[in-house]
Amino acid sequence: MAGLHLIKTYFSDSDEDEYDEKKEDDDKIVNKQTRLTLPESILSLKGVTYEEVTDNPSDHDGRIRSFKHERGNWATLVYIDYTTSDCLCTWMKSVANNLPVQGEIISSLHISLSRTLVLKFHWIESFVEGLKLLCRGFHQFIVQLTDVKVYCNEERTRTFLGIYCQNEDGTLKRLTEAIDCLLAEYQLPPFYKDISYHISFFWCLGDKQMYLQKILPSLTCSLNKFLAENVEDAYVHVKEIQCKIGNKCYSFELK
Ligand code: AMP
Repeated sequence: MAGLHLIKTYFSDSDEDEYDEKKEDDDKIVNKQTRLTLPESILSLKGVTYEEVTDNPSDHDGRIRSFKHERGNWATLVYIDYTTSDCLCTWMKSVANNLPVQGEIISSLHISLSRTLVLKFHWIESFVEGLKLLCRGFHQFIVQLTDVKVYCNEERTRTFLGIYCQNEDGTLKRLTEAIDCLLAEYQLPPFYKDISYHISFFWCLGDKQMYLQKILPSLTCSLNKFLAENVEDAYVHVKEIQCKIGNKCYSFELK
């Protein structure tokens, strides 16, 4: 699935890193015969970390983890998976290749509906069940792509260019509020107060907002011209919601 790749590529607590580290940890477990080994059922789960890991940004393109690896902590994100048309993908690539900053194109895309969360292993089952029930209570809805905006992560270690997404009937906002209520049951933080729904398509290291802010009007102008010529790309029909926990992805259908 496209969204999975994206989260692997730029999720602050990359599952790929986690998986690689898990493999290393597994090796350590095998090598240290004196240590108690975990049951096979747990060992076979991807995304579980067994030891605290010293973060080395050079191991993942200079990205810095936003939270510490800890035993039983699972990186979690609730989002809408988004697949671009070839034309919009070409537009994104041409924008990314002509920016005043160096960075990476994001090839598989999503609209986040939560922050990057840390879920405890023993919460996963009930959290997934809660999300499934919640999604059943919401109708499918339409999202419109409008402007190009710049975003920074909270730590200001990464900057993103994204396409702002608007939802006229308010379903997206109500859905996010319901997800926030579910998260509160697990003492997990809500999404942004002043949410700006978007599809990030480019990221770079550091806080580069100053450089990108200036060119946003011309990028939005270019996007609007593109969307006027490719009207079908201006709208996304949202039929399901995704949740990624560790390396596992769940999909929940809307009504
Ligand atoms: P995403 O593409 O969803 O991973 O978002 C890229 C970055 O935008 C994340 O690191 C968010 O922390 C950041 N961001 C900053 N301000 C906002 C906002 N108002 N709403 C949503 N995301 C935001």
